[in-house]
Amino acid sequence: MMELQFTGIGSAFNTELGNTSAFIREKNSMFLIDSGGTVFHKLKTLRLFEALENLYIIITHTHPDHVGSLGEVIFYAHYIQKIKPFIFFPDKNLLNNIFFGIGVGNEMYTLQCTENAVISDENFGNIEIEFTKVSHTKTMPAYGFFLKLQGMSLYYGGDADDVNEAALQRLKSGEIDRLYQDTCGLEYEGNSHTSLRRLKERVSQEYRNKVYCMHLDEHINKTDIIDSGFKVAEIYK
Ligand SMILES: [Zn+2]
Repeated sequence: MMELQFTGIGSAFNTELGNTSAFIREKNSMFLIDSGGTVFHKLKTLRLFEALENLYIIITHTHPDHVGSLGEVIFYAHYIQKIKPFIFFPDKNLLNNIFFGIGVGNEMYTLQCTENAVISDENFGNIEIEFTKVSHTKTMPAYGFFLKLQGMSLYYGGDADDVNEAALQRLKSGEIDRLYQDTCGLEYEGNSHTSLRRLKERVSQEYRNKVYCMHLDEHINKTDIIDSGFKVAEIYK
């Protein structure tokens, strides 16, 4: 079965693991999740722009470790690849304002800002997206999303201070095969991420092998994640 490939699995300050971002590439089509500061460089290093004709980018929220190099990705797509990326994000004004501020013209991208979207691609077939609001920070909206693509059915949590209840229910009912969760080691009052301790409270043992931890901070240990029965998203080489 097809899987998400990660260019990085780190939190904002955990630069060693790179900003958390994932992609699926099928022939000349690519689906990209977030594009933080380290991501454009990584995509180029991995030669993922080569022969690319269809680019879909889904944005979970506008923190720099999720959109920091989005401008470069769009510029590269526009000026070098001569393609127009298709961007999914529910808050139209917020993203348009950011693009305006960094000089990304609205002729360079197509923005789909409905909470549910179905797009048909020549290589992927239907891409079905269903956004859901998550609790992350008070200063901006943040989203997780359900994705159906090429037989995969998953939930990607973005950055969130807890496991999304609807996603958990769908994992239990078998409606989704896997759940990707922002997981940190650090615990403090007002934490905007989900600690491993919290994740263990929320997900019972039998479902843990379908939960992939990502956005890891420097205070979490991969062994602790695996010993708890969860998986760690792997960095694509
Ligand atoms: Zn964030």
